[in-house]
Amino acid sequence: MAENKKKFNLECVQRGFANGVAPNFPLTDKQKEKMIDKATKAYGKFLDALECDWRNDPNSNDTPRRVAKAYVNDLWAGRYTDMSPITSFPSDGYDGIVIERNIPLTSMCSHHHQTIGGVVHVGYIVGENGKVIGLSKLNRVVEHFGRRGAIQEQLTSAIHNAVNTICENNLGVIITVVATHNCVSCRGVKHRGAAMVTTKASGVFRHSGNDARQEFFNSLKINNGGHQI
Ligand SMILES: [Zn+2]
Repeated sequence: MAENKKKFNLECVQRGFANGVAPNFPLTDKQKEKMIDKATKAYGKFLDALECDWRNDPNSNDTPRRVAKAYVNDLWAGRYTDMSPITSFPSDGYDGIVIERNIPLTSMCSHHHQTIGGVVHVGYIVGENGKVIGLSKLNRVVEHFGRRGAIQEQLTSAIHNAVNTICENNLGVIITVVATHNCVSCRGVKHRGAAMVTTKASGVFRHSGNDARQEFFNSLKINNGGHQI
């Protein structure tokens, strides 16, 4: 199969927003170091405002830097670091549904800056002369859009838009996100275990009762590692 590495423009949110990329995206290592230094100082001031004596507390005296590094390198990495080029292949006559389920999701709610954890299920159907996506690239897409500020509904749309764009000439794409939000479990109402389920569907998956849509949801129930949808 002929491999195709291509660069797509997959961003659909204004640059600079928490769920968009940084204005200078993608950042060089030097730019990231500078950002970490600035954010370290600012987080120290934030702790000062909370009357935390972090400078003299042996457990906290490097915390501003730890937090700054976690944002730039992990929690918000999708805002600063680009994805590797997406690989797609000719479908070679395969016209069935392709599903990858239980892709791990770690994200952060844009409203409260609390983490979001869950899974993403992706399904699509290749059109005639269409392309299938290298499997791990679906995981990369979830990482890229998850590792930044998020509103689950918009995150679901962003992943859908990316798969729909990369998988050229598809007949339909469906994305289901199942996630728990620490802003619900740790603050405010403080309810543990409540999960939010969002689905964005296009093409043949759009209408309830459609065979492909049924096949997608049925497949999520089989040996699903305890993740219910
Ligand atoms: Zn929240």
